[in-house]
Amino acid sequence: MADKGVGDLVRLRASDTGVTTSAFDPAETFGVSKKRALKEVDGIRSELAALQEPLYAERSRSVLVVLQGMDTSGKDGTISHVMTGINPQGVSITSFKAPTPEERRHDFLWRIRRALPGPGLLGIFNRSHYEDVLVVKVDQLAPREVIEGRYDRINRFEANLVKSGTTVLKFCLLISAEEQRQRLVARLEDRTKHWKYSPADVDKRAQWDEYMVAYDAALSRCSIPEAPWYVVPADRKWFRNYVISNVLLETMRDLKPRYPKASFSVARELARLPAHPAIRAGRQH
Ligand code: AMP
Ligand code: MG
Repeated sequence: MADKGVGDLVRLRASDTGVTTSAFDPAETFGVSKKRALKEVDGIRSELAALQEPLYAERSRSVLVVLQGMDTSGKDGTISHVMTGINPQGVSITSFKAPTPEERRHDFLWRIRRALPGPGLLGIFNRSHYEDVLVVKVDQLAPREVIEGRYDRINRFEANLVKSGTTVLKFCLLISAEEQRQRLVARLEDRTKHWKYSPADVDKRAQWDEYMVAYDAALSRCSIPEAPWYVVPADRKWFRNYVISNVLLETMRDLKPRYPKASFSVARELARLPAHPAIRAGRQH
């Protein structure tokens, strides 16, 4: 399978209305072996790092990676694996939790706008504005008609973002209920993982079907051509990393970032550099 292939296989199209998460197998690997995926991901990491530096140097365009998924679906794991090797200075990562009292006083996109990656940056959202049509919908934290209006608002927001020079990649990490059960048990059985666990995870798990309905709506109503959703089979961590790395690499390659031309004369600057810096007399001892 060519590098491009795997992204094409999991990308939703704007015409994919009525898409349902149940149509995807969270354990799917499209015939890619673990051995091959691990090997390829190594190469992808170095190419990603090599592309991110000129993007940073250009300081004009940005990339935004949105990660959504149920608890334990691997949002944190994706960030650490896919970003390994990339210069942290060029990356901005934001995790969105339940809104603070201040955030609650503003429109739901307020905190999102504030966290957008600036020129040259690769931004990663660990959860995002989609929580406002996911948990907010499932737990009825806002009136129905308010939530209904958010899908179009999100589409307009993302389309504008793309127009102003930010490439938007949205990944929905899909795990099965059984895989989640095993991951939650593993967290509970390891005291060094307790910090990652929240009793609320089990409450959310009990609402699994409601969440899938909310995900279906977000996926089918917000897959605009400018900012498509990628539905990532995430039961196997290595495959999840493989898919996301591939899509990110393909995107960065298409951007063709270039180191900017010097705004000064290199020859003149070289000529201005003496072999030793002049030491002012007063400084000598
Ligand atoms: P975690 O990502 O495990 O640290 O959990 C963060 C929690 O914040 C999740 O349970 C989310 O559902 C919740 N959360 C994030 N955004 C919102 C939001 N806009 N409204 C309510 N809860 C949210
Ligand atoms: Mg959690």
